[in-house]
Amino acid sequence: MTKKELGLRDNFYSFPTCPKCHKLYNKQEVEDYKENNINSVMKCRHVEFPNSATRRNRQCQTILSKQVPTMNRFKLKFKLIYLFARIRQQLMAFYNRLNFENFLQH
Ligand SMILES: [Zn+2]
Repeated sequence: MTKKELGLRDNFYSFPTCPKCHKLYNKQEVEDYKENNINSVMKCRHVEFPNSATRRNRQCQTILSKQVPTMNRFKLKFKLIYLFARIRQQLMAFYNRLNFENFLQH
């Protein structure tokens, strides 16, 4: 909470990622995924050659997360996460470093 109040938190955006083909997914989409109306583990839907007549229906099918038991429920843990920070935020962090502008002159 102190870190948040002082603005010391890194605000990364995170995307669940397929460990095999590296396709990025929306976090909410993976968390809310349901099969037969029951929360379930989502599999990758990436098709490597969508224009190929023989491989059109061959999806990656790699599992994107696993269910980890918590106190009274299950929580999803993503197999692979892609983190990214916006360029504006990164530049702000650089310029807040001591003498950063002087180092740019060199
Ligand atoms: Zn995949």
